[in-house]
Amino acid sequence: MWDTIVLGSGIGGLTAATALARRGQRVLVLEQHQVAGGQTQTFQRQGWTFATGVHYIGGVAPQVGEAGQFGRLLGWLSGDALEFHDCGNPYDIVRLPGFEFGIEHPEAAYRDRLRERFPGQHAAIDTWFDEVKRARAAAMSLFALRALPAPLAWGMKLWRGAEIERMSQRSLAQALADIADPYLAAVLGARWGDYGATPDHAPLLEHALVTGAYNHGSYFPLGGPARFAQTLVPVIRAAGGALELGASVQRIRVKGGRACGVDYVQGGQMHQADAQQVISAIGAHNTAGCLDAAQAPEWQAELTGFEPGFSYVSLYLGLEGDIVAAGASAANYWLYASPDIGRLWQRPADEDAPGLFVSFPSLKDPSSGGPPTAEVLAPCDAAAFAPWLGLPPGERPEDYLAFKAWVEERLLAQFAQHFPALAPMVRFHELATPVTQQHYVRAPRGAMYGLEMDAERLGSQALNVRTPVPGLLLAGQDVSGAGVQAAAMSGMMAAVAIEPALLRQLSR
Ligand SMILES: Cc1cc2nc3c(=O)[nH]c(=O)nc-3n(C[C@H](O)[C@H](O)[C@H](O)COP(=O)(O)OP(=O)(O)OC[C@H]3O[C@@H](n4cnc5c(N)ncnc54)[C@H](O)[C@@H]3O)c2cc1C
Repeated sequence: MWDTIVLGSGIGGLTAATALARRGQRVLVLEQHQVAGGQTQTFQRQGWTFATGVHYIGGVAPQVGEAGQFGRLLGWLSGDALEFHDCGNPYDIVRLPGFEFGIEHPEAAYRDRLRERFPGQHAAIDTWFDEVKRARAAAMSLFALRALPAPLAWGMKLWRGAEIERMSQRSLAQALADIADPYLAAVLGARWGDYGATPDHAPLLEHALVTGAYNHGSYFPLGGPARFAQTLVPVIRAAGGALELGASVQRIRVKGGRACGVDYVQGGQMHQADAQQVISAIGAHNTAGCLDAAQAPEWQAELTGFEPGFSYVSLYLGLEGDIVAAGASAANYWLYASPDIGRLWQRPADEDAPGLFVSFPSLKDPSSGGPPTAEVLAPCDAAAFAPWLGLPPGERPEDYLAFKAWVEERLLAQFAQHFPALAPMVRFHELATPVTQQHYVRAPRGAMYGLEMDAERLGSQALNVRTPVPGLLLAGQDVSGAGVQAAAMSGMMAAVAIEPALLRQLSR
């Protein structure tokens, strides 16, 4: 009998498990993959190390206050074993043909640079930042609303409900439509790839929240994102807990109306584990897939009614030589073919990617000492890969491999156009597709950030840490929204729901 069983070893699950372990709980973490960490895992090829789902993190600055609040929480969880490296300033660079703009922190610097670059647009810039500030405040009220006890939530809803609703319903595209200069609008909207929706679906509230996370700086884990699992799992084990890899949860067992354990397959055999409560951090659809249909059917229908967000292809490049001299930096590059920045890559067979995200992780982690790497990422519609979704490696047919090779060549050519001096340094390349993403982290339709981030999702009561099934809690990005920090916070909130004394760790 475990105190708590946590499903999924992504940062959401690991945060919940580690926080409970710090309270003395014996926690069992079950992970279907052979490597822990979910999207924080890294992988090696011929000496090059690649990160899968982390390019930058906010909230871990060394300063006191909000700038370093997430870092202090991680410090408490990991016993100060996690350290972060500053990715420099500007930290996001937006490039369109004949145009480049570096986004700086703090927000005041970003705003000043915009005012210098677009002297005729001061009113539009000021209106945008005012609106973003209000959208962020609305997001905070929304999260408070969800966490507060019912009578206080009622009061909060009376006070802030209309503003939350307005800001949730306003899309990024609507906000950008008020901006006359297409290049200014392109810079302000460029970073929608940081969460799970294109500008026409994305609530301005989510855009404000995610991009605002970097207002105090952009950081990368020293030693790479694998450090999350490397530092947190020992804390879980030290408290008597365990991590089981290759353990695919099939069923969440409910007895007498309360979640009391799980059935999982490991090494081809079915196992059973029991606990006081279960935290599921494997995504909303996967959680519903593990429950009997009779358990809270309306809630399950609401969970599965949400569509997965867009997917992506990622080209991993191993390079040789001085990549800084050849034009690389620790910033992220947002590259668009035109100021029309809101298009997904719909037809990878027939067209170039309309937008690319390029990052050089080896430059973000000076401690790695490894050879240089680059990652070229294009948000795409998983429909192009639909015939092969769900097929495991080894069972993927020739037509998939040929299509993948074609997309890989196309992305290599686009990378060479944008970084001509770096292209001859490429010694290794490998492509990940929506099929890859679905396989490694069981992301439905290979979604990059789980459920699509839209107004309906923001307003839903179903995506809460507390569920209608007593003893079952949810954590991870489907509860909180995209990103390491958000997913970790949802894990923390799930732990707080079990051990309320943990709440004080959130104000460190
Ligand atoms: C390409 C890419 C780039 C990104 N870049 C950034 C970035 O720069 N900064 C940032 O903050 N965020 C970034 N993100 C987002 C961030 O990585 C995620 O939001 C976050 O890691 C999600 O954590 P999670 O714990 O919710 O889910 P996951 O990490 O997906 O963990 C879920 C885990 O559950 C396991 N699982 C699923 N089903 C089962 C089952 N039945 N049984 C057992 N285990 C199961 C999966 O294998 C997985 O390990 C990026 C994501 C991607 C894909």
